[in-house]
Amino acid sequence: ARNVLEVRNLKMYYFTSKGVVRAVDDLTFNLKKGEVLGLAGESGCGKSSLGFTLLGMPTPPGKIVDGSIKIDGREIVGLPEDVLRREIRWQKIAMIFQGAMNALNPVYTVGYQMIEPLLLHTDMSKDEAIDRAQKYLELVGLDPDIVYRYPHELSGGMKQRVVIASALLLEPDVVIADEPTTALDVVVQAQIINLLKKLKKDLGLSMIFITHDLSILAEISDRVAIMYAGKIVEIGDSEKIYYEPAHPYTQKLLASIPRLHEDVDKLEFIPGQPPNLIHPPSGCRFHPRCPYAMDVCREQIPELKEIDKDHYAACWLL
Ligand code: SF4
Ligand code: MG
Repeated sequence: ARNVLEVRNLKMYYFTSKGVVRAVDDLTFNLKKGEVLGLAGESGCGKSSLGFTLLGMPTPPGKIVDGSIKIDGREIVGLPEDVLRREIRWQKIAMIFQGAMNALNPVYTVGYQMIEPLLLHTDMSKDEAIDRAQKYLELVGLDPDIVYRYPHELSGGMKQRVVIASALLLEPDVVIADEPTTALDVVVQAQIINLLKKLKKDLGLSMIFITHDLSILAEISDRVAIMYAGKIVEIGDSEKIYYEPAHPYTQKLLASIPRLHEDVDKLEFIPGQPPNLIHPPSGCRFHPRCPYAMDVCREQIPELKEIDKDHYAACWLL
């Protein structure tokens, strides 16, 4: 399949009064048409920062300082804000924000909120826009008549479905889902994951699925990228990452999640804190927490290397 998204040497830094925070530091990866790429790492590793950056809207005081983001072949780094708003955001790339279901405006009906971007970005009439909204509500398993309801009349799971339907309305090439199940109970979580899997199959959805929960990623992702301190440290087929993780950080991360048929008291935890990204550790950023750290790890940054077919890791051991 062709690449719908190509990211090359992307850097997005926050320019704060305390210093420059290197939140996204030299990332390179692709997303293929119809693929789900899971993006995992501890909180604060830059996952959400990356999501916003791909939308061309890094959170202030963040700025893209280098690199390239091509969506369906079109470079979006450097495009003026009005072009991003008119031609790219929601239409080419959409995001399901973390906690977005709680951000629905209580004052307006579901339908009113859903059709706003359609009226803004297309020449659809109001009736056509409502039709489109209803079609997508059905697609996410909701009664199309909820266009006339208010957010407080819906459950958390229903609101999350509304948010997903809204992200799909303009038929974007790429959807970024940032912890889309985090605030939901376990049963509803499973329903939302199943819904996303179904949408992937039915619509050929290409998606970046951001989470700190690796057990969810195994369910939904074709490939997984592991982020640590602003960098991708390992990327490959989901099965490979899950069953044969190569990078010491990935191994630690996997050992720290509960798996089926395993004792919870066998769980490990990763000692130490994720590093400060104003003064990240020299060389491999994981070295202060890595049990295998060698001299070279403190001195030189390991690059992502292909260690197996389509399986890349950045570690001096490999
Ligand atoms: Fe550990 Fe060195 Fe590999 Fe980094 S490069 S993960 S410190 S062994
Ligand atoms: Mg986050």
